[in-house]
Amino acid sequence: MYKYYNQNFDKDEMFFWLCQMARQFESAVVIINPAKGNVIEFVNHVFTHLTEYSESELIGEKLNILHGPLTDILNEDAIQECIVNGQQFTTSSFHYRKDGSTFWNEVSILPLKNLNGEFQYCLLMMKDVTYATKLDSLLELERNIYFKLENGYPLENVLSEICNHVENTFRIQCHCTIVLIDEKRKVTGVYGGATKTFEISEYQAFFIDKDNRNFSLSLDRNATFIKNIKKTVYYEQYKTLIDKENIVSLWGQPIFNKEEGLIGYFSIYFEEEMEPQATDYKFINTNVTPIVTLAVKYYNQKSAIHSLAFFDSETGLSNFEGFKNKMQTEWEADLGDSYLYIIEPSEYQKIVDLYGRQGGDKILLKMAKRIQNIFAEHKLFIARYTNSAIIIASQLKISDLQFTQAEMDHLLFEPYCINNKDVYITLKVGTSKICQETPINQAIRQADTALSIALKSVGTVIKKFDAEQVESVANEMNVLANIAKGLMKDEFMPMLQPKVDIKTGEINSFEALARWISPELGFVSPALFIPVAENTGNISKIDRAIFKKVLQWQKHRKETNSPMYQVSVNISPNHFYHPAFVENVMELIEKYGVETKYIKFEITESIELDNVMRAKKIINDLMKYGIATSIDDFGIGYSSLSYLQELPFEEIKIDKSFVDNLADPRMHAVIKTIIHLSRNLNMRCVAEGIETEAQHKELLQLGCNSGQGYYYFKPMPLHEVDELLQKNTQTQF
Ligand code: C2E
Ligand code: CA
Ligand code: CA
Repeated sequence: MYKYYNQNFDKDEMFFWLCQMARQFESAVVIINPAKGNVIEFVNHVFTHLTEYSESELIGEKLNILHGPLTDILNEDAIQECIVNGQQFTTSSFHYRKDGSTFWNEVSILPLKNLNGEFQYCLLMMKDVTYATKLDSLLELERNIYFKLENGYPLENVLSEICNHVENTFRIQCHCTIVLIDEKRKVTGVYGGATKTFEISEYQAFFIDKDNRNFSLSLDRNATFIKNIKKTVYYEQYKTLIDKENIVSLWGQPIFNKEEGLIGYFSIYFEEEMEPQATDYKFINTNVTPIVTLAVKYYNQKSAIHSLAFFDSETGLSNFEGFKNKMQTEWEADLGDSYLYIIEPSEYQKIVDLYGRQGGDKILLKMAKRIQNIFAEHKLFIARYTNSAIIIASQLKISDLQFTQAEMDHLLFEPYCINNKDVYITLKVGTSKICQETPINQAIRQADTALSIALKSVGTVIKKFDAEQVESVANEMNVLANIAKGLMKDEFMPMLQPKVDIKTGEINSFEALARWISPELGFVSPALFIPVAENTGNISKIDRAIFKKVLQWQKHRKETNSPMYQVSVNISPNHFYHPAFVENVMELIEKYGVETKYIKFEITESIELDNVMRAKKIINDLMKYGIATSIDDFGIGYSSLSYLQELPFEEIKIDKSFVDNLADPRMHAVIKTIIHLSRNLNMRCVAEGIETEAQHKELLQLGCNSGQGYYYFKPMPLHEVDELLQKNTQTQF
């Protein structure tokens, strides 16, 4: 039956009734009469408002009055077809207002039929959905932005995309830029298409500086809009710029971060006069700028995370990850051959013991700064390598570095101030070369190997990586495997090196030095097997093996009534601190029946500070039995000066590295101090590693008691010592 209308309606009544109804509607309504060639017969005021045409301009026209250059004609044809055929249809069209501005129009077609099913009128409901459409595309934009930020696209790329998006979707042609500024309102970056034509300085002057301009991009929350800049007084001032870009309307939207700080401007200019509509404001202000804020915030957070991942929070230096990253991204490409240095202060652990972790951090940072100063003119990259070491990449070889003495002194000899205390350090340096054949990761391993070798020497040491070292590391492995066997087969032998009275040249005692000729490995240097034995718990056995051989030799001399000499035996700290050490040595001495005055123990200076009391007890116990002790390698750690008086050593041995540098006035002063100190403390003073006559004379002059070194005698096998003493040679120097 009657489906839609009262059966009494004729066509005119129906039209009248439809118009009445349409006037009440909140959406735009157009009524089209198919009988009259599909022209518009009625429009409501919402529609005139939407399109800006008057009623009389619309009546009798076709829908194509809303078409424009960008309207999708196929879609419009579909609309027409539905109107003609009386079909229901909903679609979105890109339509033009009278003034040429555009909007997304959601068009719904409702065909109206009479009782007999005859198609009478077509009712078109329309709705401006520009905003909603924009929102959809904004969501799309937001997704893209997230994706790009997540995937490490640069901020520039992200902000440019935002500008492009606005340019593509804004209802009239515009040019967009995002300008980021710092707290001082200085431009830090400009993004978007327009950046190609503007200079940063122009942005600074024109868009940001507001001092003498009232149209300026305001600092308050509000957007600034200039309808036609050419009609303002500022045209004169910025004529070239304005004409160059043909700027007519200008719109600046300040961008704030969450904390209400101004971070930049979103600026749009138009080449024609433009009046923003409420929807435009809304689009820019509440939709676009939050995305910018978000992107900037996200980017800042990312870089904060980046800095956490790549920087050492204690020192602010790059960390090792940062180093590798930088080397891989920046360095390898444009620098070619360069050099790596891994540097560790020998005293790092002592500093941490004394001043805590922070002390260790401080020393590394201070050291890094000094090095940075020295390299100031060269490209250099410093990072923290481990807790105790820094790593440096430079194009300079150490030998190319023209250090001035003052720089060198500053780096090496001036104390570092930690917690108001002067701390002196020596450096261990391992170096390697980065080149085509040795990529960065391999070079790092090499420098590390070189460092571990440097760490075995005393004083400041620079070790270059070379293949021999690899061999020596491999050696170490072999050595380790063979030490136990060597001990069982009694392969360790002492050599004796005379200690000579510097004044008379007389041999007054000897030092026993371990030698190992392994059937598998050949001659192995103590510099190699001693550290390996120390690290693997075999050292006491070696010390004892040597000690036994020395006692045997003493016993034999005693039995043959040969003159007796004191022999010093080296004892590693681990062995020295063993609770049964004194007991064990006394047992051996008694077994061989050697008088204790012919025995001395040399202990290296690296006595741990917290062990001072224990060391004192052991030294005293030995002393009670008449056994003297000697502090070996003295002078390497300065801190030892302070606790030396606590420890009743009988002898101090000045380390070879000091004797080597005797010509250096500062070393000279240090040695002089040590000699004076030993005299005050009633200790004998022995200088080791004397190789030249000049060193001998100098030490004689300084009042050192004894000397030891190749200048007098090299270490020699026991039978040679017997022969030498047999001749009862009184050497004169
Ligand atoms: P050290 O106790 O400082 O011994 C002095 C080292 O300097 C010896 O090296 C000696 O041969 C060397 N030397 C002596 N005069 C000169 C010289 O004029 N010029 C040069 N260039 N070198 C000189 P060596 O025998 O290679 O021993 C190295 C280190 O191994 C020793 O240093 C000592 O710390 C350790 N060591 C040796 N034997 C033993 C041992 O039986 N037990 C322990 N625990 N350590 C030992
Ligand atoms: Ca020694
Ligand atoms: Ca020594």
